[in-house]
Amino acid sequence: MIKMEQLYEGKAKKVFATENPEMYIVEYKDDATAFNGLKKGTIAGKGVINNKMSNFLMQKLEEAGVPTHYVEEISDRETIVKKVSIVPLEVIIRNISAGSFAKRYGVEEGIVFEQPTIEFSYKNDDLGDPLINDYHAIALKAATREEIELITKYAFAVNDFLKAYMKKLGIDLVDFKLEFGKLSDGTIVLADEISPDTCRFWDENTHEKLDKDRFRRDLGGVEDAYNEVMRRLMGE
Ligand code: UDP
Repeated sequence: MIKMEQLYEGKAKKVFATENPEMYIVEYKDDATAFNGLKKGTIAGKGVINNKMSNFLMQKLEEAGVPTHYVEEISDRETIVKKVSIVPLEVIIRNISAGSFAKRYGVEEGIVFEQPTIEFSYKNDDLGDPLINDYHAIALKAATREEIELITKYAFAVNDFLKAYMKKLGIDLVDFKLEFGKLSDGTIVLADEISPDTCRFWDENTHEKLDKDRFRRDLGGVEDAYNEVMRRLMGE
């Protein structure tokens, strides 16, 4: 596959065209941002870890029945993915209170929920990705009712798989964000990435944070945390 012109540069990834109109190449960077781009930095080696971890998990999820954009890893930082148009909704699943949930409702972090929760944010940097409900998403034509129902089903399936998988590695899956895309025929697939940038991972015993909160909250040991999750997941 030939890497052609750059189509897009996001906060953590670049997207390139290929000679196949149905395929893109994504390239993972070490750049990190938080608080809607207000905080900027780099996390050395993050691009390699997020690329490999996301690809590994997407292959497992395919086996578990969740269709994804993943096609083939072609280097440490580069992966061929199916071309999608991104559904402009961030899908957040939570098992334990943390982050904006704890802040919004004035509760402590670490409350274990009896059932996972789901919420959607409208992907729009200028507006700071505001919380949105299904009716508003449909009114804005971000997705149809049927698409939202399918996305919801897939998101909970990702949670069932990932929560159990991480638990075996001694990691509690606190919450995470997913993005979905539509293939040219309208098929909904899981897109973007699944990594410590997009998930909260806590060590089940020490409750140490093993994710991007170390960067967001200046806790130090950011690279070590990413490396530790990678080591437990893939033995690297
Ligand atoms: N998240 C993300 N991108 C975003 C917002 C959230 O990947 O733009 C992830 C975040 O890493 C966490 C989960 O979604 O795992 C829930 O985040 P939350 O709503 O608590 O927001 P935050 O506290 O990160 O602002």
